[in-house]
Amino acid sequence: MVLFPVVEPLLDARGRLRTLSELSLEEMQSWFAELGQPRFRAGQVHEWLWRHLATGLDEMTNLPKDLRQALAEHSSIGLLEVDQEQIALDGTAKWAFRDAEGRRFETVMIPDEDRRTACISSQVGCAMGCSFCRTATMGFLRNLTPGEILQQVAHVKRWLAATGQPPLSNIVFMGMGEPLNNLPGVLQACQTLTSPKGMGMASRRITLSTSGLVERIDELARSAPQYKLAISLNSSNDTMRNDVMPVNRRHPIAELLAAGDAWSQAADWPVTYEYVLIGDVTCTEQSAWEVVELLRGRHCKLNLIPLNPASDIPLRSPEESEIHAFERIVHGAGLLVFRRKPKGRDILAACGQLARKKA
Ligand code: SF4
Repeated sequence: MVLFPVVEPLLDARGRLRTLSELSLEEMQSWFAELGQPRFRAGQVHEWLWRHLATGLDEMTNLPKDLRQALAEHSSIGLLEVDQEQIALDGTAKWAFRDAEGRRFETVMIPDEDRRTACISSQVGCAMGCSFCRTATMGFLRNLTPGEILQQVAHVKRWLAATGQPPLSNIVFMGMGEPLNNLPGVLQACQTLTSPKGMGMASRRITLSTSGLVERIDELARSAPQYKLAISLNSSNDTMRNDVMPVNRRHPIAELLAAGDAWSQAADWPVTYEYVLIGDVTCTEQSAWEVVELLRGRHCKLNLIPLNPASDIPLRSPEESEIHAFERIVHGAGLLVFRRKPKGRDILAACGQLARKKA
């Protein structure tokens, strides 16, 4: 019989029980050493969590029963509590998860032919205050932990398998929050997402998206250029961007584009500039020409996102004719331009529509 030494339960900085999902493989190995267990047992648990997407310790059948009991006493898997699930007419799915304090954060799965993309939250609420975004109305509540980020992905993967759909192909950090404001947590999660002992995804299938935190873009260029980078440009000049995205007062457009250039050089990959088309604001012919001036000659793509309606945001979605006029100009000037299809509008799952309220 294996005797387990008395060890302290896993507690976080707030004195709460940490879950197995929170632990990196290295942290799990050192905790298992405290439990008097060999290193490979930590690897087995890690594989159960992220390769086999286990939902209970009893599924981990290659672990001794008494080890499973000890794990159950000292920790838990850390599954997310689903508060609400909604499926849109176009197959987009949205889940609201509830944490121990009753705060909600959301995850969206977007289908597009054979692709299945998970749009993941990195924070509960957001501090960045972008005027077109419902999440901004919540303010910043807290960072999500690496385990909570990973369990969002695991939830989507389990659901896709259960509903007989193609497997998850892409992950975008475009749900609630500014992921680069939670960079250590996001990068720890990405390590497990891409590790062969974790979910084994290709790095370039993961997109980190930022409102424009220049110093963190520089950090990514130095230490983690393997993921894709999307930058929310959303305006064609500083006056407009100061209004739409307050971060611009700290990091104006020229500084942001220079950081994007440095990243694309380090990553040897184009930056994706996201541009929300707002009627009479960012979607005008003059704005289109200004965008051309900003992006021409840069190693980048331009992703156009017609504003999704939200009743509590006093901005207008552009008409199709306005969008066409904008596209004609940027496309005609030789930029690599894509238009994001609106998905999941009927369940408020589209870009900028995530918020704490029940839809
Ligand atoms: S758009 Fe992104 S960065 Fe801006 S407030 Fe919303 S969640 Fe935050």
